[in-house]
Amino acid sequence: MQRIFILIIFTFVLLATINPGAVAKEYLVKTQQEYKKVVTQLKAGDEVVLVNGTWSDFEIVFKATGTKQKPVTLRAETPGQVVLSGLSNLRLAGKYLVVSGLVFKDGYTPTGEVISFRRNKNDLANHSRVTQVVIDNYSNPEKFEQDKWVVMYGRYNRFDHSSLIGKRNAGVTMAVRLNTEESQQNHHRIDHNYFGPRPTLGSNGGETLRVGTSHYSLTDSFTTIENNYFDRCNGEVEIISNKSGKNRILNNVFFESRGTLTLRHGNGNLVEGNVFFGNGVDHTGGIRVINRDQVINNNYMEGLTGYRFGSGFTIMNGVPNSKINRYHQVDNALIKNNTLVDVEHIHFAAGSDAERSAVPINSQFQNNLIVNSNNTDGISLFDDVSGISFAGNLVSSGINPTLASGFTVTSLDMQRAENGLLYPQSDISKGASTSLQPIKKQQVGASYYPKAEQDVAFDSGKTVSVKPVENALFDAINNAASGDVLLLENGDYTIGKVIKLTKTITIKAKHKTQVTLYPERSTFVDIGDFGSLKLVDLIISGKHTPDSAGNTLLRTSKIPMQRNYRVEIQGSVIENLNVNHSFHVFDAGSRSFADSFTINNSTFKNITGDLIRLNKETDDLGIYNAEYVYFNNNTVENVEGAVVKLYRGGTDESTFGPHFMMNGNTIKNVGKGKRNKSESAVRLHGVQVAQISNNRFIDSASASIEHTVGEPITTVNDNEFTNTSAPTVVELRVEGPHTATLTNNIVK
Ligand code: CA
Repeated sequence: MQRIFILIIFTFVLLATINPGAVAKEYLVKTQQEYKKVVTQLKAGDEVVLVNGTWSDFEIVFKATGTKQKPVTLRAETPGQVVLSGLSNLRLAGKYLVVSGLVFKDGYTPTGEVISFRRNKNDLANHSRVTQVVIDNYSNPEKFEQDKWVVMYGRYNRFDHSSLIGKRNAGVTMAVRLNTEESQQNHHRIDHNYFGPRPTLGSNGGETLRVGTSHYSLTDSFTTIENNYFDRCNGEVEIISNKSGKNRILNNVFFESRGTLTLRHGNGNLVEGNVFFGNGVDHTGGIRVINRDQVINNNYMEGLTGYRFGSGFTIMNGVPNSKINRYHQVDNALIKNNTLVDVEHIHFAAGSDAERSAVPINSQFQNNLIVNSNNTDGISLFDDVSGISFAGNLVSSGINPTLASGFTVTSLDMQRAENGLLYPQSDISKGASTSLQPIKKQQVGASYYPKAEQDVAFDSGKTVSVKPVENALFDAINNAASGDVLLLENGDYTIGKVIKLTKTITIKAKHKTQVTLYPERSTFVDIGDFGSLKLVDLIISGKHTPDSAGNTLLRTSKIPMQRNYRVEIQGSVIENLNVNHSFHVFDAGSRSFADSFTINNSTFKNITGDLIRLNKETDDLGIYNAEYVYFNNNTVENVEGAVVKLYRGGTDESTFGPHFMMNGNTIKNVGKGKRNKSESAVRLHGVQVAQISNNRFIDSASASIEHTVGEPITTVNDNEFTNTSAPTVVELRVEGPHTATLTNNIVK
């Protein structure tokens, strides 16, 4: 039997050899079985064409050997008309392969990767190209089940003109691996891709592009990343995490992306011609420099607000004799001809502490242009910067330079050029070149695929009138489209069923104080994936809810959510949630994440539980429940629980939030119920940015704030604490006094 098999193989090989001029074939395949058969027969120049339609649960292994002149191709019959859904993925192995026109959506990979430039550890792809593909929210429904979307192995591969949009689960969107010799010095090219919006993950593991890992970081990669567009890549603090040597990061655009291009590990990288547009969005950053021989030339940055390691520009301190995964000293960095317009923070020798004591050396910062309408150069020094030679830099008039030499103050008449960037009308030898051509959104990504917005905005749909009759609100929500406004006519509404919300919906009273809702179940609205809720000018009473402990007016799904949601309550009255103990206004489920949670100009009274519970991630993995929480100009009276419990545990520092803003509220007789174990009216743990100001606390429990990691920014100012104890701040992980600013508070 075995002999016959060998004989057959031999015959095939013989036939192939004696017939080298065979004409390339095109195979149109309609089923997975056909594909599996065809793929074993492929020769140089052949094309496999997947017929248009949806292919479910298709794990494609594309293994073939082409030549430079005659690659082997796998393509969609029509680009964009072949959809891989369900549990699908693609692995390439061999050489001179081309894949194009495929769309991955409505599912997720059953393995750790969606597109992999290898079949397995030993069988890699080389000289191969994946182009015009789309991966659109092909995210594991279990948000913290980690996978990657595109992983490059091997050498001389290219990934280009593709769209990677909306990754919502943990794991870097795209990675270049150097984990075996066959994948090092790889000369890959990653170009003209659309890295579409990546929502805040709310944990580490949300990087968009990583090249290398710390383990192989002293190895050269020679990867080129050019002409890509990073559109609101907000996953976490690192947008690009460079962790290998000799890469070139050229002419990319970073649009309103929170985080930085970080030269985290590896030496001798070139960062040139990149453009960062922050537009004043929170936490937009630029470039962070670590390691040896880095060149940062001719980049343009505008409107970046980030600070600390997320600044518009950062040069780090290193660790003497650093371990491979810590911080290597900056040595021989050349930073020249960059333009920084309204960049709020430029940090030199950042991260200086007992461990990171190796200051930058042998480095140059020259001919850069710093323009700032706030009359500051934004520069902060955290240690000795004498190892950086500053020369020929210009700063705009009104600025008193932080550094005595190397910066000339001059009047700069900045005009926006046709390429969209600002240039001085006088001296153009400083700052970025006028020949920069920032890549446009329409020039990148799969040409056939729209770059649609991911979230539906509140009030973006139609307005639907609702009358106070049985089931009217429930039915209206069922029939509404995402973005619609349900406008409630005057009257009382009984809500007999739990509303499971999977749309963006606004519920609004036509006339303020004239519409009252009476939920009759233990929950009024349960927010699930795709759900976001806005309540305006309503009165909601708990009078008719069942008499059971632990009712919750609003909550998120008890199943972990993949999608981030938003809640907004404006001008409403929520009262009499007191049929039993521990009746909460809002309770987040574990593994749910609010992009924003806002309550303004509202009144809460006679409530036995808490108002806002965003405190479910107590496994301390650096995961939390909301990015921005706003609580402004509200009146809260007779509430046994707390106004807010906001919790972020763990030691990870890869996130910006949570943020908490509480201004102008009156808090009376709040937080003193015996079931409120926090014994606080405001309980913050591990919150990164908190501002509590102009509030009046009367006969209430106080605010208690626990700092953990990062350098949290906490301000408590201009509050009155009447018959209420003073707020407390404690550092749980850092020695010494707390770092919060408490000013102008009156305790009486
Ligand atoms: Ca990270």
